[in-house]
Amino acid sequence: MATVSERLQSVKARIPEGVELIAVSKFHPVEALREAYDAGQRYFGESRVQELSAKVMQLPDDIHWHFIGHLQTNKVKQLVRANVDTIESVDSIRLLQLIEAEAAKAERKIKVLLQVHVAKEETKTGFLPEELINLLNSEVIDNLKWVEIVGVMGMASNTDDSSRIEADFEAIAETFRHLQQGIMSSHTSFKQISMGMSHDFPLAIKHGATMVRVGTDIFGEREY
Ligand SMILES: *Cc1c(COP(=O)(O)O)cnc(C)c1O
Repeated sequence: MATVSERLQSVKARIPEGVELIAVSKFHPVEALREAYDAGQRYFGESRVQELSAKVMQLPDDIHWHFIGHLQTNKVKQLVRANVDTIESVDSIRLLQLIEAEAAKAERKIKVLLQVHVAKEETKTGFLPEELINLLNSEVIDNLKWVEIVGVMGMASNTDDSSRIEADFEAIAETFRHLQQGIMSSHTSFKQISMGMSHDFPLAIKHGATMVRVGTDIFGEREY
C-alpha cells in the first residue's frame, strides 16, 4: 500500500493552484498527520473538539487547523481556546454569536464558514440557502468583532449519481455568490467555498470550490 506521503502527492496532483487542500485527519493517529506534515501539508481538518485539541498540542504550531464537524454549544469555549484557525461548520446564528463571545473573551480572531445544507439526506446539518440569506442581516454581521465570516461550506448528497452531486455543488456555489453580491459585498475576505471530499472533490472544483476536504484518499479508511 502507498504511504501517506505518496497518497498526498497524488491527491495534490489532481488539485489546481488556488484550491486549498484540507487534509481530513479525524480518527487517524498523530503519526499519520506527522507524515503528511513532513511532506509539506499545513491544513488539517478534524471533526471532534477533544481530538483536535489533543493533536494541536502534539504537532507544530504552523498548522492551520480546521474544525469540520458538528459543533455543540458546550464545546465552543474549548475549541476557541485550542489553536483553531477556521470553524467550517457554523450552522446557526446562535452558534455564530457564541463563537464571537468566546473569541472575544479569549481575545482570539477566528475565521468561520457558514454551512449550507443542500444534500437530500435529513441527517446533514446546516442552513438552508433561503434561510441563510434571510437570517444573515447586517445587525448580525456588524456585531462580529473577533469572528470573520470567510465563506461557505457544504456537502453533496451521498450518491453515485454525479448529476445530483453536481447540482448540489452548484447550489452551494450559488448560495455563496448570492451572499457575496449581497449582504457580504463589502467584506473582501468572504471568498471561500469549501466543498468536495475524497469521492467527489474533482466535481466540487469544477463548480468553484476554493477548498476541498479530503480524508480517505490521503490517510486510508478510518477505524471507528
Ligand atoms: C470526514 C469528512 C470529510 C472527508 O471525507 P473523506 O471521504 O474521508 O474524504 C470531509 N468533510 C467532512 C465534513 C467530513 O466530516
